[in-house]
Amino acid sequence: MVMRSFEQDTKNGIVPRPELRSLSGNIYQHPEGKFEERYAHDLLTAFLDKEDFKVQKDYKSLSGGTEFRAEYTSAEYDPSLHPTIAVICEYDALPEIGHACGHNLIAESGIATGLAVRDVLKNNPEVQGQIVVMSTPGEEDGGGKCYLLARSAFADIDFAMMVHPFANNDLKPVILGADACNIHFHNSDNASSLTCRPMDAAVQLYQQIALFRSKFQVDWKVHGVVNPLPEKESPGPGLMSLEKSTHSWYMVRAVSQKDFHHLQRKLEEFAEAAATSTGCRLDFQWVEEMEVYTGMVHNSTMAKVYREYSEKEGVVYPDSAKPFYGSTDMGNVSLAVPSITRASRWEKK
Ligand SMILES: [Zn+2]
Repeated sequence: MVMRSFEQDTKNGIVPRPELRSLSGNIYQHPEGKFEERYAHDLLTAFLDKEDFKVQKDYKSLSGGTEFRAEYTSAEYDPSLHPTIAVICEYDALPEIGHACGHNLIAESGIATGLAVRDVLKNNPEVQGQIVVMSTPGEEDGGGKCYLLARSAFADIDFAMMVHPFANNDLKPVILGADACNIHFHNSDNASSLTCRPMDAAVQLYQQIALFRSKFQVDWKVHGVVNPLPEKESPGPGLMSLEKSTHSWYMVRAVSQKDFHHLQRKLEEFAEAAATSTGCRLDFQWVEEMEVYTGMVHNSTMAKVYREYSEKEGVVYPDSAKPFYGSTDMGNVSLAVPSITRASRWEKK
């Protein structure tokens, strides 16, 4: 994002709102993990309440007071005739490293957009509609938007948009679907450790994935780890491992649902083959269905409009931008309602 000076903004009739920066800063100083964002919830709802938004706290009772919906409606708004637009606020932090993903900035951007559209609706009677500041807690590995979708939180929304901080501006960042699985290979009950080696099975699975990687498309990802044996099962240095089981964790990521399911089936096939060839028993489990993040489908028409207006404001979209390759539950929203998610560069003044 190109930064402009306070003097320029004032000259152009844009009124700077330094308190927005304070909201973001306060959330940054009080990092809260997924579904624990009560400080941010209270801070943002109190602010929006004072700004003439109709605020519903603890919306959909998602996680005990961490989610809200705030809406501003024009005087002649008719949902069957006029648009209902959601701007997304995220504000959860990562364990131990706080707001390293910058979700405090997503909150600030969502609120700022809400205020701007409110002003348009308030001052232009020919423009009718409803702007919804929709908070979506628990994005970091929580699938908050998946739960909200299941509770019909986006049922009346015509279009949803959000922005995520990144190293460069990208109008349609590559956002990958993501699912994770736990794979255990067990020593068969009637087999000795010499004929059935769970570690061999885990290594074979790893190598099979590594070989298959040569056939990957650029936006396919499979990554994982083989967890070390618990100390009590380790026979000590220099001795043959007598492991009874191994645990591997893998994540599969791709943009399209077709590619995503293809990679999932391949991983299952490879695990079954490794179990068969080593004589081990396989226990394969994908994580809960509700937490599967899907790839993002950007709405091209809205992205084009967004580009046109943001470029007028000085935003530059580099042609050879570093790919985003992140995952977010906004992908799930994009399959339910037309959506855009822009990756945005923030610069210090
Ligand atoms: Zn993030």
